[in-house]
Amino acid sequence: MRLKDIFCQDQVIERLQRAYAASKMAHAYIFAGPDGVGRRSTARAWAKMLLCRDRQKQKIGDCPHFDSCGRCESCRIFEGGGHPDFKEVYKELRPYTVDDKGKEAKQDLPISVIREFLIDKVAARPILGESVVFLVHEAERLNVNSQNALLKVLEEPPRHCVIILLCTRPEMLLPTTLSRCQLLRFGPIEEDIIVNRLAEQGIGKVEATFWARFCEGSLGQAIQWIALKLKEGACYSLKTELIRRLAQFRLADAVDLAEWMVERAKDLGQAIQAVDEKVGKTDSNRRAQKGVLRMALCAFKDAMRLSAGIDGGLVNADQKDSIAQIADRNTPEILAEWVVGLDKSMRWVDDSVNEKLIFEEFLLDCAGCGIVPVR
Ligand SMILES: [Zn+2]
Repeated sequence: MRLKDIFCQDQVIERLQRAYAASKMAHAYIFAGPDGVGRRSTARAWAKMLLCRDRQKQKIGDCPHFDSCGRCESCRIFEGGGHPDFKEVYKELRPYTVDDKGKEAKQDLPISVIREFLIDKVAARPILGESVVFLVHEAERLNVNSQNALLKVLEEPPRHCVIILLCTRPEMLLPTTLSRCQLLRFGPIEEDIIVNRLAEQGIGKVEATFWARFCEGSLGQAIQWIALKLKEGACYSLKTELIRRLAQFRLADAVDLAEWMVERAKDLGQAIQAVDEKVGKTDSNRRAQKGVLRMALCAFKDAMRLSAGIDGGLVNADQKDSIAQIADRNTPEILAEWVVGLDKSMRWVDDSVNEKLIFEEFLLDCAGCGIVPVR
């Protein structure tokens, strides 16, 4: 992919281009924003341009735009995936470090990975071109030790080095890390654009609108959800079934519904792992559990909106009747408590609480908050 192929992130790319044209590039960047809005694609395309041996220059407006040629030796090796001057750093490298050899990757990005795959390598000269680009994935997972170890490199990287941290939540980084990097924010993509893109893949407008809203303007996430193949159909049918069941929910159903949610989350976890081998089983299961909980969360937030008389912009506009049922049976205060409860459930996922307990507690919470039994 070249920079010209990056979709809907013109502002960020223009900032990078202006800095590059003026030889005022920062040596360390944070590409911040939600998953799936183009941070990784932009970082890769930018790296490919920096490493290209035959950079192309074009004037767009008053700003010169540089791009990779796509043909030179560097570009071909880059696309092949083994460019010696493009180094990706991620938490799954942990078992391949000397210090933590063979140990399973954990939730955080440990110092062993940062030291051995970044700090120890920054001094090496580029092999093919003028620069070396390091791309750190999930920088929000850098623990305090890793960040402290990185500080010196972020402050005074060798001239040939560019370090890009991909980060969904920059507020989780230490102020000392933030102050040494230039922060570029990647915004959400407009709903119409996502819906049109998904339509090109044969997704109907109703489903596409749901995914655009559920994924909060992240085309990449929407595409990922749609691509997941579950044992029992697609993710969209999982969500419609979940909302239908929540609308009908009564206390006596809590255990059954919790078991159903656990099974669906397991199925979803396997589907996530099937499309991305790099993601371990634990991470896939966590993502799946959070995904199912988020579907419920969106339904309750929609119900709160309906209760407040706002019926535009519902995530579940496709199941407005079910949402209305949830809204009719509960006061806005109770719905607000559910939303808070779901937040707690999502934290439990990260704390590795047993999945059945998470879903049961959540449903019993709902029931305890006074849900009216279905007559
Ligand atoms: Zn090239």
